Amino acid sequence: MKSLQDPISVLSGVGAKRAENLRELNIQTIEDLVTYFPFRYEDIQEKNLLEIQDQEKVVLKGLVVSEPVVSHYGYKKNRLTFRIMKEHAVINISFFNQSFLKDKVQLSEEIAVFGKWDAKRKALTGMKILGSQSEEDFAPIYHVNKKIRQSTLITLIKLAFEDYLEVIQEMLPHMLIEKYQLMNRKQAIYAMHFPKDVAENHQAKRRIIFEEFFLFQMKMQKLRKEEKGANQGLQILYDVQKLKQFTQSLPFELTNAQKKVTNEICRDLRQPEHMHRLLQGDVGSGKTVVAAIALYAAVSAGYQGALMVPTEILAEQHLESLTGLFDPLEIQLALLTSSTKAKERREVLAELADGRLDVIVGTHSLIQEEVQFARLGLVITDEQHRFGVNQRKILREKGMHPDVLFMTATPIPRTLAITAYGEMDVSIIDELPAGRIPIETRWIRPKQVDTALNWMKEELTKGSQVYVICPLIEESESIDVKNATEIYEHLRQFFMGNYQVGLLHGKMKAKEKDEIMNAFKENKLQVLVSTTVIEVGVNVPNATIMMIMDADRFGLAQLHQLRGRVGRGSQASYCILVANPKNETGTERMKIMTETTNGFVLSEKDLEMRGPGEFFGARQSGVPQFQVGDLVADSAILEEARRCAIQIWASANWWQQPEFEQLTQYISVHSQSNEYFD
Ligand code: ADP
Ligand code: MG
Repeated sequence: MKSLQDPISVLSGVGAKRAENLRELNIQTIEDLVTYFPFRYEDIQEKNLLEIQDQEKVVLKGLVVSEPVVSHYGYKKNRLTFRIMKEHAVINISFFNQSFLKDKVQLSEEIAVFGKWDAKRKALTGMKILGSQSEEDFAPIYHVNKKIRQSTLITLIKLAFEDYLEVIQEMLPHMLIEKYQLMNRKQAIYAMHFPKDVAENHQAKRRIIFEEFFLFQMKMQKLRKEEKGANQGLQILYDVQKLKQFTQSLPFELTNAQKKVTNEICRDLRQPEHMHRLLQGDVGSGKTVVAAIALYAAVSAGYQGALMVPTEILAEQHLESLTGLFDPLEIQLALLTSSTKAKERREVLAELADGRLDVIVGTHSLIQEEVQFARLGLVITDEQHRFGVNQRKILREKGMHPDVLFMTATPIPRTLAITAYGEMDVSIIDELPAGRIPIETRWIRPKQVDTALNWMKEELTKGSQVYVICPLIEESESIDVKNATEIYEHLRQFFMGNYQVGLLHGKMKAKEKDEIMNAFKENKLQVLVSTTVIEVGVNVPNATIMMIMDADRFGLAQLHQLRGRVGRGSQASYCILVANPKNETGTERMKIMTETTNGFVLSEKDLEMRGPGEFFGARQSGVPQFQVGDLVADSAILEEARRCAIQIWASANWWQQPEFEQLTQYISVHSQSNEYFD
């Protein structure tokens, strides 16, 4: 029996060598081949001569009116020329170094040539001679490599369709096909490659994108079920009275948004299922206190809590904030990072293991090393997008099953949130504490820097402090350091005798960094020049000015994150972007930054401008690669697909129902590959 899982070598013309080459394109089975979709189509409809722009790539059809001639010139170079007649005009056609095409050119016959139009000379530089069949009016273009050519791929796909088209089965449940009027799978796959016309191709694409998003969301819902249902859930029955007292003892009243998310989190804690929740809130929206309440809740129920952050500086800062907030309570807190001294480390580990410690703050070495907890109930990670999907899974793989709360200060556009974090529940703090004065953002050119520095000197007389951020040019930390050092020297000279300037960069030892950071916190330094190592989380309310050099090198999300370092106290704050953008996107980014301080608006823009891959930074993106679907352009389909997946998973044992038989079969065949996460 024929199956789409048959190896590609069943096709005639695919031997060991070609199979190997196809494997490089990730094509191993017939299914891989027929779902290797073109990334675009060459619209080779004919155009009227007058409509064609100079240098445009077009197809010209006409009658060959001269014998083809090959002339040789230079070293091993040749030119094939002939003329065709089209619309009563005679057009010269030249092919360079493709003399073998001569046989395809027959005097007095019709020919179709694809090439680049030279409007002045009324001539075409040929690139390809097309078959005369009109079926190629809408030609698929595939990603190929040096070993596999477009034409080879097309031939193979056609060959596969001859034998296997009938084997392609519908796998989406009928109700979805009906509901969304989707093209069936067989038709859609065929029309992705060889559509009759634009309309048919559009329908095919719509179906394939839906399928792609839907299957992905089914997987996320499965993951969600696994995360939430893993082992026995924890029911953290916290002490409501104590929690109320604690919130009332805070020096401020919680914002409505903070109250709302605190309730969502507390409900999760009480429920027998595991918490698996993402807390999003702009910089300064007050996530720390929410984390503190959740930790206290766990402790009041007799559990231990852990707070994980990506850097040591942050760990120390969080320890400090928590120590302050927990001051009136009997809570045993400790810090654990890679620079914790051996003796202290041993003590901390012992106290965690026997339960004397209630809350531990640290970097993610917390869960990666042999740390034993007596009764771990809640893990909170801050700036969670720095922990990739795989690190998120570590907790589970370690056999620990605490409730988990992920916090992030990067407002994530919804489409990304439901893909990268589709398996989580999401809480959003969409409101800043009252009384904050919006940060004023200005964009200046590099030549205006000295003017800005003079203004800064004035501002410093009010007792405030300044950050100066130098960009991180990836892959070349030493250049960054040099760059930052130069700026530091310049500012040191400039402020000499008035203010103290410090320098912070990624090449410094942790201890040095801490010293500088602490000096800045204590206002022993008034100006801090830094590469982006301070990007995350640092809280110095007295700092009211941020100057970002070469600001156009940063993405919007990152600029926003940086800007959030100021505006934390009651003083007016400023952000100065220094940039000479070389292109329009750079210019637009600077403008948007001066126009809004709303992180969600900025993040949507950022996604639009840079695409999902860049959004989180290349490395730990956690954003799946979709073959056809586009998270921005096809977001409506994504939403629908997600709704469907959630609905299906909500019905118990859906996989046993006949309606889903094809779907479950399809999923079980494809369950090996984890393509979305690797
Ligand atoms: P985030 O971690 O979300 O960036 P933080 O938790 O560091 O923000 O809070 C920023 C500042 O706002 C802190 O100084 C904190 O004490 C203060 N803060 C938090 N919640 C409130 C509130 N409801 N009212 C006033 N100030 C608050
Ligand atoms: Mg924070």
